[in-house]
Amino acid sequence: MKAADDKTIVREYFNSTGFDRWQRIYGDGEVNKVQLDIRTGHQQTVDNVIGWLQADNNLSSLSICDAGCGVGSLSIPLVMDGAKVYASDISAKMVSEAQDRAVKVFANTVNPTFAVQDLESLSGNYHTVICLDVLIHYPQEKADEMISHLCSLAQSRIILSFAPKTFFLTILKKIGSFFPGPSKATRAYLHRERDIIKILEKNGFAVQRQAMTRTKFYFSRLLEATRTSA
Ligand code: SAM
Repeated sequence: MKAADDKTIVREYFNSTGFDRWQRIYGDGEVNKVQLDIRTGHQQTVDNVIGWLQADNNLSSLSICDAGCGVGSLSIPLVMDGAKVYASDISAKMVSEAQDRAVKVFANTVNPTFAVQDLESLSGNYHTVICLDVLIHYPQEKADEMISHLCSLAQSRIILSFAPKTFFLTILKKIGSFFPGPSKATRAYLHRERDIIKILEKNGFAVQRQAMTRTKFYFSRLLEATRTSA
């Protein structure tokens, strides 16, 4: 399958069945056990990022690009902590849901700003670029291009998460337990950590902090890398 096909499939998925499934997982209503497990795991990833940024104690001076923002699970709390957030997603449905959620929390709709845009076409410069649980939808070669582009937008730092290609996960994926249920409509790609680090380094970034979230059905490796060269 060509990468362009992956992107079309992913966009259509997150504007249809994927939207229904993921906006429930990323909400607080009733869900099944598998979805609850994924909700819990994803929240840990979000909490890890927020914990790192809060520890630096400079959130209110940061401009942050949340690429593939989904329903705003990260963007909204980051704005609550004082950051200026530019949130975008390839799926109009996800962005519309994110906007609805933001309006419920904030009096104005200026921050976060939302856009329906694939991350490959993003431009501008941000102190920090964050891209959580998006790379899983793309093969390594395409992920390399995406990471390189995101690095070009980041003045100081990039934070990425991906499903790590470990022996255990490769076996799980083979037996079909990975991301069970309707989300099988999209392929889940695992990435080797060393490949991700290699591409970050090629773009002048070095890994500073890392975390791993592992529940029964959710696996996400989180890396923070900062710029070492212009
Ligand atoms: N980052 C969000 C979070 O962690 O809450 C959402 C994660 S969700 C599993 C993946 C999101 O990536 C979906 O909202 C999907 O529409 C978006 N996405 C997939 N491919 C994309 C692309 N090429 N550019 C921008 N967004 C993309």
